[in-house]
Amino acid sequence: MARVLITGGAGFLGSHLCDKFIGKGDEVICMDNFVTGSPDNIAHLFGNKNFKFIHHDVTEYIYVEGDLDYILHFASPASPIDYLKLPIQTLKVGSLGTHKTLGLAKAKNARFLIASTSETYGDPLIHPQPETYWGNVNPVGMRGVYDEAKRFAEAMTMAYHRFHGVDTRIVRIFNTYGPRMRLQDGRAIPNFINQALSGQDVTVYGDGSQTRSVCYVDDLIEGIYRLLMSDEVYPVNIGNPDEITMLDLAKEVISIIGNDAKIIFEDLPADDPKIRQPDTTKANAILKWNASIGRKEGLEKTIADFRKRLGK
Ligand code: NAD
Ligand code: UDP
Repeated sequence: MARVLITGGAGFLGSHLCDKFIGKGDEVICMDNFVTGSPDNIAHLFGNKNFKFIHHDVTEYIYVEGDLDYILHFASPASPIDYLKLPIQTLKVGSLGTHKTLGLAKAKNARFLIASTSETYGDPLIHPQPETYWGNVNPVGMRGVYDEAKRFAEAMTMAYHRFHGVDTRIVRIFNTYGPRMRLQDGRAIPNFINQALSGQDVTVYGDGSQTRSVCYVDDLIEGIYRLLMSDEVYPVNIGNPDEITMLDLAKEVISIIGNDAKIIFEDLPADDPKIRQPDTTKANAILKWNASIGRKEGLEKTIADFRKRLGK
């Protein structure tokens, strides 16, 4: 039985990670300050003897009693509308929060995994993106607060590995969706589903020709777990390579919901990447991992969760 600290554990991905470790019979300490997360995401775990919650901002000194085997640092606003509203907090949690959690990993002799992102590739000039690509990020643009915080977090993680010998892992997560995303999260899939189910127009930014490759949460969590259990210290992409334009994605969501929601076009946010697709050769080779849940199945499960929460 392992003892695991999950920062950002009350968020979308963090709460699914808590479920994964609790399901394995491990002890989970979930740490969150609810800046973008919610107690609703972990309410089902309260009362479980293997689950403990600590309300704490991880940019401040972190105290955890007892041993820790693993630390998964997932705390950070992740939706562009969140990190545009919380630019300083986003920079702090990626830098100071990563420093604090790495310091804790060193003190507890725990294995550390950082949630990095496909945003480290910025608006990519290489397609699909392999881990060896250094990226094309605008440091002073609106997205710079998130992208550079994550790039700093990767550099800090490698420094603790090289200088202090901390056992570290870096996952570069590509767009992931699924149950528990906030209705007002602002990212494409929750927006499209919430809008179509609530009788609003579905907002596509720009002309909708920009692409993403979207991964269902269960696939991502399995990939992260395999990476944590592997020996790979350098970054590994985890994502579903099935690429789609945002206009086609909006149409697909509306067609699965089966109503006549109208698509409207709004301004494209600054520095919005034009294309994105993970090269998952490395994850296939070293983790024997592939995304297995298709978009239709994943969207149906996500829509069912949104319907329940919206009472539709
Ligand atoms: P989320 O907003 O649902 O979850 C983030 C959680 O971190 C929230 O519960 C929030 O309250 C918490 N948090 C933020 N700052 C904190 C602080 N200072 N102290 C304590 N808790 C704090 O977002 P998510 O989609 O679950 O993303 C989780 C992680 O995965 C983030 O690090 C994000 O950058 C990374 N990621 C996610 C995706 C994706 O597609 N979902 C893609 C790439 C990377
Ligand atoms: N997007 C959109 N309509 C929305 C929300 C997002 O067309 O209501 C677009 C956004 O401009 C981007 C893509 O969908 O091109 C994915 O956006 P998201 O916020 O999900 O994640 P990103 O990959 O940009 O961080």
